Amino acid sequence: MHPIVDLRSDTVTKPTPEMRRAMAEAEVGDDVYSEDPTLNRLEERAAEMFGREAAMFVPSGSMANTIAVMTLARRGSEVICEERAHIFSYEMASLSAIAGCAARGVKTEDGLLTWKLVKEAIRPKGRYMAQTGMVSCENTHNVAGGVVLPTEDAEEICDGAHEAGLTVHLDGARIFNAAVALGKSVAEITRKFDSVTFCVSKGLGAPVGSLLLGTAEYIAQARINRKILGGGMRQAGVLAAAGLIALEQSPQRLHEDHENAQVLAQGLAAIPGIRIDPQRVQTNIVVFDVSGTGQTSQQLADQLATHNVKVHAMTPTSIRAVTHCDVDRAGCLRAVAALEQVCAAGVRA
Ligand SMILES: *Cc1c(COP(=O)(O)O)cnc(C)c1O
Repeated sequence: MHPIVDLRSDTVTKPTPEMRRAMAEAEVGDDVYSEDPTLNRLEERAAEMFGREAAMFVPSGSMANTIAVMTLARRGSEVICEERAHIFSYEMASLSAIAGCAARGVKTEDGLLTWKLVKEAIRPKGRYMAQTGMVSCENTHNVAGGVVLPTEDAEEICDGAHEAGLTVHLDGARIFNAAVALGKSVAEITRKFDSVTFCVSKGLGAPVGSLLLGTAEYIAQARINRKILGGGMRQAGVLAAAGLIALEQSPQRLHEDHENAQVLAQGLAAIPGIRIDPQRVQTNIVVFDVSGTGQTSQQLADQLATHNVKVHAMTPTSIRAVTHCDVDRAGCLRAVAALEQVCAAGVRA
């Protein structure tokens, strides 16, 4: 049997031998006292790359998003976001359960918010409706297939929201993928947001962690909120050591994941019953429709697993495959061949 091709997510990436060595050798201290030198270096480096005053390491992207809402929006206010946004649909409603806000989901065809859509969702001032507290954007948009938010649209949202007295957070879990697709720096494409988060634990390949970025004042308040959530981590330099390597080295290779996703998308498009437009695949996420195969996404995913190919059944009719540093071109081609076989067998049966 072939080795496993795991395309469920880019979170499945394992730390490299170099990361493991750095983790073993990391100089550490107590980060709740801000005394972990390796962690401090990661935060300083991240802030520098994004052109921000300060950064804070958090255990997960979900916690970073929750902290952003706690810090930027009043309890009882609404957070405008795209309807399928991670912060809305994939974080156990922590936005409400913990941050005390309500999500105002905005429906879009392609996952991309615009200022026009955001503006229409802002509540009028008054005594009955929850008041709009903040806006949250996502770049790249995970569930919409890794689509990139154009920088002009992002900046128009930020300018409009600021003028309306609202703060704007960017869930940039995969912002480095967006930067590669746009051919711009992460600092350039995020500069107008009040708050930005990104994950080192996804395509960048580190085992654990995300960073939250903003002004020194914002991050000081965010540190208090992280502690409220129990996210103060002591000798977290062992994690930051891998994060530093991820941050310095991985962005340069993300284009390979995008090229592999394109190969994957083109292969899938040729399979009868599968519907996907490869031109809409901009980064490392490939979402395809399987309704024409006569099988559910879960049935297909289960059969693919018997071929040692793992994918994520996202909705009953769609599957997500994510390319990353632990899957090569040959692995992607093998995934296509396996699906071709599984679909053909299904049609005969
Ligand atoms: C993965 C992801 C996150 C954070 O996920 P964690 O598993 O909590 O680190 C946040 N936003 C988006 C868009 C994501 O894809």
